[in-house]
Amino acid sequence: MSTRAMLVVPLVVAALFALPLPAAAYVRTVTEAGALSRWKTPCPTMEFSLGAPPPVSDSQGYFEAASAAGAAWSQAALDGVNRCTNVIFTVVSVPDVAGPVGMDYHNRLIFRQDKWCREPPPSGDDPNDPPCYDEHALAITSVFQLKNSGEILDADLEVNAYNFTWGDFVTHPELFQTNTQDFQGAITHEFGHVIGLDHTCFNPGATFADGKVIPRPLDNLGNPVPDCSDDDLPTVITQATMYVSVASPGAEVDLRSLSLDDVQAVCDIYHVEPNFVCLPPSGAYLATGGGGCSYPARPRRDSIACVLVLLLMATVARRRR
Ligand SMILES: [Zn+2]
Repeated sequence: MSTRAMLVVPLVVAALFALPLPAAAYVRTVTEAGALSRWKTPCPTMEFSLGAPPPVSDSQGYFEAASAAGAAWSQAALDGVNRCTNVIFTVVSVPDVAGPVGMDYHNRLIFRQDKWCREPPPSGDDPNDPPCYDEHALAITSVFQLKNSGEILDADLEVNAYNFTWGDFVTHPELFQTNTQDFQGAITHEFGHVIGLDHTCFNPGATFADGKVIPRPLDNLGNPVPDCSDDDLPTVITQATMYVSVASPGAEVDLRSLSLDDVQAVCDIYHVEPNFVCLPPSGAYLATGGGGCSYPARPRRDSIACVLVLLLMATVARRRR
């Protein structure tokens, strides 16, 4: 059995029936076995391949934007009077032009410029595992996690620079009128997937790799998550960074700032633990004596689920009008 054949590859985007109760809050990614996704040590470091970045920003601009997106989910930004989380989300620049998606303990942030396809391409002709992505998808985050425990081991984020250009809507608001997307806003949303969050609404129809329909998730209050197509979604859903789209045209920049719901998510899932510290990244993570950031242990004999999250497609549709 090949390595890839051992991977379970569910496509997370969503599923069925209508809402009963008004969903109130954040939604966590769930594996096929029903486990909630979570990093054991909440110190993800993304290796950003900036060897030959696409227009219209430059390497420094992209790096600063990605770093700010990581900081938005990190303890320094989220701490109020009382510290609520241990998360430190770091971005480091690497000189690579591209990089592979795969379970290798390297979290990668990669622009796809020559084609909008997975690298390396999947083997076989599995219709649930196509080699190329939907041209309307701005970015795709693949999260590799243990199916039974939900422990996240690796996450790779591919950005569609083949169908879109990327820029900064704050310093260059005129870019909104073009085919350009706001990089920091989109990446802040994708980083939410990296730490184990799903969308705050649900799109019916998606299946896991084995063909099973993905069940409607529950939010943190135990309420079924409503359809994204519902007309009267509450603002707690539509104004979250983890909403599937943006609340209104031009609101891409708003994704950069977490809503109270997003903050509650990261503080609940990765609540503060005493005597815990993330060590600075040094290529791989360093081990600490007391449970800090350590290089993840070798995967147990628990199958690994890869969750692909297709993102912000509604945003694209709206922007392309
Ligand atoms: Zn998303």
